[in-house]
Amino acid sequence: RKLNADDVPEPVDTGAGHTPPATNTGFASLGLDARVLQAIAKEKLTEPTPVQVQAIPLAIAGKDILARAKTGSGKTLAYLLPIIHSILRRKAFSARPAKTVSAIFLVPTKELATQVTTAVKTFTSFCGQDIRAENINRKEDLAVTRARLLEYPEIVVGTPNRVSQWISNDVLKAADLVHVVIDEADLVLSYEYEDELRSIAAALPAGVQNIFMSATLRTEVDKLTALFCKSGSPVVLDLSE
Ligand code: ADP
Ligand code: MG
Repeated sequence: RKLNADDVPEPVDTGAGHTPPATNTGFASLGLDARVLQAIAKEKLTEPTPVQVQAIPLAIAGKDILARAKTGSGKTLAYLLPIIHSILRRKAFSARPAKTVSAIFLVPTKELATQVTTAVKTFTSFCGQDIRAENINRKEDLAVTRARLLEYPEIVVGTPNRVSQWISNDVLKAADLVHVVIDEADLVLSYEYEDELRSIAAALPAGVQNIFMSATLRTEVDKLTALFCKSGSPVVLDLSE
């Protein structure tokens, strides 16, 4: 699968029948589920940032993405919102709740794991129990983390060492994953998580969606995309000002 930056995203099911709130018209055209739009309205966000405008439709269309945009440009929601949307769509089409984790968000630090998990909870506040997120960097007994993972949260947030640990002992089933995000990809690399990233990448199923967010496009980031994007290059979004 060869991807280009000018690929046009395929049309998506936007949750027909729901009328998006009028307060977030800028977000309404991106194709997001009505429950996501409700949370956006509740958070009083009115316009998507440039990286969100570009990344959200591509992510909903299932593309692999490498986005570069400066700190503070809204990269978290650029991957979070479309992944919440995709999980909701899949749940709407499956009769029984699946005992699988759908997405992992790899972050460089435990502080960022906390922040991102909080953001997931904020933007799934209209999703009931359909989407749960677990931060596996919490300071707690391993048995507690294990039990939380075996509740099959849809989204797991953590640093590469924690994630690779739970994948290698097969509590976190990598083969079931649909989305993998590496947030702050340049920082993840500079924290010397390369071995862990290698083992995570090796465990992932073919066809998993890879999204990389970075403040820079250093050549090291290319190593990362080569490792994860087995079926072709990601769409590159360079939002440098
Ligand atoms: P980055 O990861 O690019 O450094 P963040 O995702 O952490 O940026 O977002 C920075 C701040 O901007 C956060 O407080 C976030 O809630 C806010 N933000 C994100 N998107 C929007 C938006 N569309 N409108 C207003 N504020 C936003
Ligand atoms: Mg960020």
